[in-house]
Amino acid sequence: MTEIDAIRTAILNDAPAAELEALPIPATVRGALVKADEVEMFAGVASDDKDPRKSTHVEQFPLPELAPDEAYVGVMASAINFNTVWTSIFEPLPTFGFLKRLGRESVWGARHDQPFHVMGSDASGVVLRVGSAVRNWNPGDKVTVHCLHVDDQDPSAHDDSMMATNQRIWGFESNFGGLAEIAVVKANQLMPKPAHLTWEEAACNALCNSTSYRMIVSPNGSQMTQGQSVLVWGATGGIGAYAVQYVKNGGGTPVGVVSSEKRAELLRELGCDAVIDRRAENYKFWNAEDTEQDPAEWLRFGKKIRSLIGRDVDIVFEHPGRSTMGASVFVAKRGGMVITCAATSGFKIEYDNRYLWMNLKTLKGCHFANYREAWEANRLVCEARIHPTLSKVYSLDDTGEAAYQVHRNLAEGKVGVLCLAPEEGLGVTDEETRAQHVDQITLFRRFAV
Ligand code: NDP
Repeated sequence: MTEIDAIRTAILNDAPAAELEALPIPATVRGALVKADEVEMFAGVASDDKDPRKSTHVEQFPLPELAPDEAYVGVMASAINFNTVWTSIFEPLPTFGFLKRLGRESVWGARHDQPFHVMGSDASGVVLRVGSAVRNWNPGDKVTVHCLHVDDQDPSAHDDSMMATNQRIWGFESNFGGLAEIAVVKANQLMPKPAHLTWEEAACNALCNSTSYRMIVSPNGSQMTQGQSVLVWGATGGIGAYAVQYVKNGGGTPVGVVSSEKRAELLRELGCDAVIDRRAENYKFWNAEDTEQDPAEWLRFGKKIRSLIGRDVDIVFEHPGRSTMGASVFVAKRGGMVITCAATSGFKIEYDNRYLWMNLKTLKGCHFANYREAWEANRLVCEARIHPTLSKVYSLDDTGEAAYQVHRNLAEGKVGVLCLAPEEGLGVTDEETRAQHVDQITLFRRFAV
């Protein structure tokens, strides 16, 4: 049996910690990676046509030595995020620049500067080893991993750690991410695995769920209060489907935007009654040349929202960016907030500033989540108050295809990847809680079949 098979078998058999700890860590493991000598492979190709299946390789790579504040995690499952897409199409910049910068920071940072980049910013699995400075975690612990990679010796990290000057996203701005058999993570990225979820259901939440928690719930985001209404773009997408759940849980009214009748149905099943199918309504916020926006279309969109909920929205959950920002700023209520964490359709944004200042609106930037926020968001998953939105699952070998699905907007919710887990459906240790919520837990998966 190979070393990695021995680890897989031990995890599947729920082996005691001492047994796990006695197993050797392989010098190399398999992971989904991109290569520095291929960053020009899509030169001259339109963004939409850049194909992650061409740039993503699943290969053996050398595991680095563990730093004192780190852990090796045997990854049972991981998930695709949009940042996997960005890395694999080398946009807006190849991520090797991030690795080089991290490499210059310290002797431990230098390990990340490699001619390959192992992707992945989500994982569930089992702690295999901990560094000498790790206090709260031990081999054998079942965990999920959030993606905030932060140097806790930096004073700027000690209010809101997202404000740390060297804050990074693990598996995107650092190497040795979750799309691998073993991942290298800082101990302060670890969180308990929800016992009622399978490995793949547990792996898909942390990045998107924590981001939506900060954007909707946290004082660092919009801090929605009960009775408020929130326009959620891409409401069955990765972050949108968690946002809808937070709005509902917090006593708010979500207005969800999607692009098909099928997604509209899914959104209603998720509990969102006010639904806009942007394709059926055929909004044309921009002209065909993508040079001018049409305020009459913003108005038509705003009227649609009023027809659904009888008023303007307090908050806009914004991430498509260039294609929607003009409309988002327009439709937020007087005194309302547009909170944005991304710009999928383009980051050179245009909106009419008169609507912002004359109506005293706020445009606020937001990015992932600090450890506390990620922990709270994970706790809500553990308590079955927020549910995973896993719709499709691929093998590690098919990571390129999984990323392609997200790049081409072909999947709802989250797309999972099995790493050490040999099949779906494993890892549940709290069957009772699962049975109580199984319909909600499997909603997106049933929908995708
Ligand atoms: P997904 O692809 O899973 O979902 C995005 C949704 O947005 C799609 O389902 C689609 O829904 C909608 N959408 C896409 N393009 C447009 C458009 N031009 N106009 C209107 N709606 C559009 O991605 P995620 O939800 O995981 O991520 C969304 C963005 O947020 C990405 O750019 C990602 O990188 C970023 N992100 C940022 C984070 C941060 O911490 N800053 C964290 C997580 C994500 P439909 O077609 O049905 O309308």
